[in-house]
Amino acid sequence: MKRRDFIKNASIGAVTTGSVVAPAIVSADTKIKWKMVTTWPKNFPVLGTGANQLADLITEMTDGRIKVKVYGAGELVPAFEVFDAVSRGTAQMGHGAAYYWKGKIEEAQFFSTVPFGMNAQEMTSWLYYGGGLELWRETYEPFGVIPAAAGNTTVQMAGWFNKEINSTKDLKGLKMRIPGLGGEVLKRAGGTPVNLPGGELFTSLKSGAIDATEWVGPYNDLAFGLHKAAKYYYYPGWHEPGTTLEAIINKKSFEALPADLKSIVDNACKIVNQNMTMEYVAKNNTALDTLINKHKVDVRKLPDDVLSKLKELSNDVVSELASKNKAAQKIYDSYNKFYKQVSAWNEISEKIYFNIR
Ligand code: CA
Repeated sequence: MKRRDFIKNASIGAVTTGSVVAPAIVSADTKIKWKMVTTWPKNFPVLGTGANQLADLITEMTDGRIKVKVYGAGELVPAFEVFDAVSRGTAQMGHGAAYYWKGKIEEAQFFSTVPFGMNAQEMTSWLYYGGGLELWRETYEPFGVIPAAAGNTTVQMAGWFNKEINSTKDLKGLKMRIPGLGGEVLKRAGGTPVNLPGGELFTSLKSGAIDATEWVGPYNDLAFGLHKAAKYYYYPGWHEPGTTLEAIINKKSFEALPADLKSIVDNACKIVNQNMTMEYVAKNNTALDTLINKHKVDVRKLPDDVLSKLKELSNDVVSELASKNKAAQKIYDSYNKFYKQVSAWNEISEKIYFNIR
């Protein structure tokens, strides 16, 4: 039965031009073809190239026994249909971020990032060693999808502004592109959050259609030329303090794999999770240097009272999300418990060290 399932699934996974070629036996010669759909434009710096790296790693490490072909957003399915495509088995894998599926699974947002929540190192630790990944798997289980952490943007920037932010009053009426939970927080502070795809940010900011936008961090922001469209570059990215990116795998396709290939897929995700995090750290600091020293960008910190207000509102928004359903509460409780403990430890380790070095 198991073998028959495997053959069936392997043939579903095969990219065919005309006829379906099912492997006759499960052996080291078996060639499995997987499609990976992504929420990123093809080859998008770090995010899209990280997805490419994941595909290449799986292909290389399995010596071609699994061949993964990557599709950019819109090539096979639109960005926001990646989850459904993997759930249906149209694609065997996907790469994106959990908060994109909030319309379907609101509590999934906890697995990407939470305003004023954990940073990259803390999130990854919660997922791998604090029970986070088990909860994530439980959350996607009804959809036949297995998630894995596969990248992290690290702390983002607050964004590009054409209006100075000197007090909480300046948030009132501020028209800003800021999606997700951060957008809800801005709304409660009196601002107007708008959601625009990345490709429209530059023009909207330049034309004055929006007063501000967040995007990612110095590396991606510089590539978009946002410094040519706004006067001030504010930090820190309170709304996305360490966004986890995800790889999602069709459960049937994964379960049909022999143990060695399962291990490779699992570990390739871990490698990419770490690599992408380090790539952001390395590239953001050189890009920040370019923005400041070459383009003379005015980099500013959001005032303390503005950050306090945003934090207070974030706590409301996040607790409300937790109270939406039982599953959300369970995830929030686990997240929060880990967050409190790791914060107490980081207070006397990473944080103090940052301050004294
Ligand atoms: Ca962002």
